[in-house]
Amino acid sequence: MRKKLVVGNWKMNGGLATNAKLLHALAGGWDARAGRALAVCVPFPYLGQAQAALMGTTIRWGAQNASEHAAGAYTGEVAASMLAEFGCHYAIVGHSERRQRYRESDAEVAAKASAVLAAGLTPIACVGETLAEREAGATEAVVLRQLDAVLLALSGAAKGMVVAYEPVWAIGTGKTARPEEAQAVHATLRARLEASGAGDVPLLYGGSVKGDNAAALFAQKDIDGALVGGASLQANEFLAIAGA
Ligand code: PEP
Repeated sequence: MRKKLVVGNWKMNGGLATNAKLLHALAGGWDARAGRALAVCVPFPYLGQAQAALMGTTIRWGAQNASEHAAGAYTGEVAASMLAEFGCHYAIVGHSERRQRYRESDAEVAAKASAVLAAGLTPIACVGETLAEREAGATEAVVLRQLDAVLLALSGAAKGMVVAYEPVWAIGTGKTARPEEAQAVHATLRARLEASGAGDVPLLYGGSVKGDNAAALFAQKDIDGALVGGASLQANEFLAIAGA
């Protein structure tokens, strides 16, 4: 059985004092056990703080984005090699908030995944449909289009990524996909990954995951863990999800 992986996405939240408390509570409260892994993806300025607080624990840390470029005149951007210098294990790419608000295309997301992998980190590539796309019956087509772009860019290296299925209508809304609804999409993604020789890539579900709905989601055959937004800002709730 694949290991269950739970990754927190703090989004643009936090501050030195609140982070210190949260990281301390996670480091002290996480009961490392076989078959479970925990990580937090924090805003760029707090990577050093996360590194200092989590170094020597079994909790990994990462970023929420990375440039597709290696270096140069890209004001405001952060290269994957810089993330590596802060000990990052993961970088999220293609989160729906970035696809929607910053107009990141499938091709850009794929290039970012490639850059992250080239820097020795694991990209967490997000895919997911909007409510309108779901209602139009386009869920499969959308998530496969998004996944295919990444698979094409990574080709033989796709085994080194993580994929997160995050239906846009479930992110930060309190609406979670029913476990069997999420499983159906995960099965579609798994089939595509298997066909590309990357069938063992961890497939996370994201969208209003909480301590009280995580176990039912994790019981699904192709759900290997969760990408958690809001609930990752509360140590108890996040640890409850990780232990579910
Ligand atoms: C996310 O931002 O990746 C996410 C899943 O958010 P939330 O858990 O708050 O829905």
